[in-house]
Amino acid sequence: MIVGVHPLAGFDKLLHYRVPESLRGSVAVGTLVRVPIVNALKLGIVGEIGAPKDFPVERLKSLAQVVYPFPALPPDLLGLARWMARYYACGLDSIIETMIPVAVRRGAGLKQEKLLVLAQKLPSDELAALEKRAPQQARLYRFLEQQFRPQAKALVLARLGQTAAVVNALVKRGVLREESRRIERIAYADDHAAGELVAAQPHAPNAEQQAAMDAIAASLAEAKFGVSLLHGVTGSGKTEVYLRAIDAALKLGGGVVFLVPEVALTPQTVARLRSRLEAIAQGQRCVVWHSHLSEGERLDGWLALATGEARVVVGARSAVFAPVQNLKLIVVDEEHEPAYKQDETPRYHGRDVAVMRAKLAGAHALLGSATPSLESFTNVEAGKYRLLQLTQRVDARKLPYIDVVDLRIEAAKQRGLPALSGKLVRAMQDRLERREQTILFINRRGYSSSMLCRSCGHVEECTHCSIALTYHRTDETLRCHLCGDQKPAPARCPKCAAPDIRWKGLGTQRIEESVRRVVPRARIERMDTDTMAKKNRFREVLSAFRAGKIDVLVGTQMIGKGLDFPNVTLVGLIDADMSMHIPDFRANERTFQLLVQVAGRAGRGDRAGEVIVQTFTPQAEAIQFSRHADFAGFAASELKVRRDFHYPPYRHLIHHLFRGPNPDKLKFFAEQWAKLVEKTLGDRVELRGPSPSPIEKIKDEYRWQLWYFTTAVTKVVPELAKLRAEFAWPDDLTQVIDVDPVNLM
Ligand code: ADP
Ligand code: ZN
Repeated sequence: MIVGVHPLAGFDKLLHYRVPESLRGSVAVGTLVRVPIVNALKLGIVGEIGAPKDFPVERLKSLAQVVYPFPALPPDLLGLARWMARYYACGLDSIIETMIPVAVRRGAGLKQEKLLVLAQKLPSDELAALEKRAPQQARLYRFLEQQFRPQAKALVLARLGQTAAVVNALVKRGVLREESRRIERIAYADDHAAGELVAAQPHAPNAEQQAAMDAIAASLAEAKFGVSLLHGVTGSGKTEVYLRAIDAALKLGGGVVFLVPEVALTPQTVARLRSRLEAIAQGQRCVVWHSHLSEGERLDGWLALATGEARVVVGARSAVFAPVQNLKLIVVDEEHEPAYKQDETPRYHGRDVAVMRAKLAGAHALLGSATPSLESFTNVEAGKYRLLQLTQRVDARKLPYIDVVDLRIEAAKQRGLPALSGKLVRAMQDRLERREQTILFINRRGYSSSMLCRSCGHVEECTHCSIALTYHRTDETLRCHLCGDQKPAPARCPKCAAPDIRWKGLGTQRIEESVRRVVPRARIERMDTDTMAKKNRFREVLSAFRAGKIDVLVGTQMIGKGLDFPNVTLVGLIDADMSMHIPDFRANERTFQLLVQVAGRAGRGDRAGEVIVQTFTPQAEAIQFSRHADFAGFAASELKVRRDFHYPPYRHLIHHLFRGPNPDKLKFFAEQWAKLVEKTLGDRVELRGPSPSPIEKIKDEYRWQLWYFTTAVTKVVPELAKLRAEFAWPDDLTQVIDVDPVNLM
């Protein structure tokens, strides 16, 4: 028996090995093995059984070890890895490494724990005798007898200050038995904070929910690949639909992947989801998967899925690679979220990969959002996806009214740049009187973002990164958010020495201060990446807010996701322009999504909600369409622009970044390369650039970029990869290809 193995050893090749007699039974495609490479043993994944014809098999080395007696990559995942390598132009090894957690790759086994189990109950006379002859043994016996369940050996011995000899003696007598069990570390298992996102008890579905559930159940029963896009307004009960779909898939004996954006994985959500899912899965374990798991936790979850012990995983982006067996359903909640795109190699999009995995596994993909991505929406229009709609909020609650405040008028009235308009201030005071809560959203962190001189217009930039520095008030510094460089904030303009420099833009700290001035009695809390750096702080603030101990919550988008606070009746968006006037063709789409999602946070209880949006450009379409959450209207208008300018979803974009210490050399090679691509692929791609990147320098490295626009991405990317491999790049130049990039800055 010969197998081809993809080694995880820093290169991308298929190597062949002979399988010794004793291992033949446990080797299949997808098995994690150890193989000799040069003089060391390396991990690898079996990619094929057999060898090409006329292969010189005599000189082959032997496979050394099988790590697990089951495939580490089920066939659909191995197929997915191969597809990703082609589609995203990256090495198969880097993808396999992403798919298999570090602890698993190290070949870690199951963590065992010894339990002490009482094998028989001693009659009182025997116990009395034991008491005399061996008091330590009697003591151990009595301790165990008082416990409800078997106890961990290590804990018991530590607690009683005894040695293993005492245990051994009792085992010899037949009084005690030792058992092994796998240790399970359950993430968030001890968290009982109340959360309303997922009701503990299922709701009776309304007519629209029922229709959606029926459609999905029918697709699942067909047992073939398909995609549904669930477009449901905020508060329409999409989660309930997901849970019923999961229920249906499990009843058919299948496995399920449930993806949510990382930020939505708050302990409350996880606890609720988990208990509902475990109820649905009839006591089977639901694996939770996100970036804060310890290696041990991840290994446990991975093993439970790979061995079929658990069939449901809920997690962030990378959970799309969980080794779920017999996959029947993948749910992608908030499918429009940019966070699904990974911004380091391999640069994959979790939603797109989810759809491809569903295809390879013959499963159903259910994508859901209140503001679907235009990519998914055009797939509906093209007949590739089926559209399911929830047009009403549950219990026919009204969508909140969005009031747009024109900051140009406000600025004239209040003389200067106001953080809070008169309208927003009155609305907050009003909420305080009614004992209702307010959330204020702001788009960036810090006291204010950049420093602008009113006299000469100078903006202080990072000397390494050519981006504006951010003012941090707590320690009076200017900091670079890219390389971390910092220096004291100047009192006068460094360029013209004018004393009246001012801070442009509005950060969370400044909003917090303004709020303190206008509603001095209010209890205010700020929530952004700076204040939430401390572990558990996020949870604490959220539970305090939920418990009504906070009146006004000021924060970045991180408080917007997946949270449901019935007593919030006012939501303010401080600066809608922040996301709208950046050099990204998706800026309008992001702004529309932000507004609709933010508005969806208001009025989830019995009382109607009010949303106040402050902006210098109130006439913008993203703002106007969001006032009535008019997704169809927005999509129609925005898609016209996209078509006119050949942007996605009409064409694919590929970003090519070149970086290195010498800007002239970068320019030269980028231009040579562009010429070559033009000559070879010119009829299939449109090139834009090369040109310096928007951020020209990071950590003393210069950056140039080149854009490709194409309709034939699956053909063009492999050709680019091939050309790139043959091109004579200088040693000090690094280049990165990003297919379907999400962040254009
Ligand atoms: P969405 O994700 O669409 O914004 P959610 O799934 O968060 O909406 O549901 C909003 C609220 O409505 C939740 O508190 C949920 O428990 C509740 N809910 C869902 N379905 C029903 C129903 N059929 N009847 C009553 N309440 C429901
Ligand atoms: Zn910097």
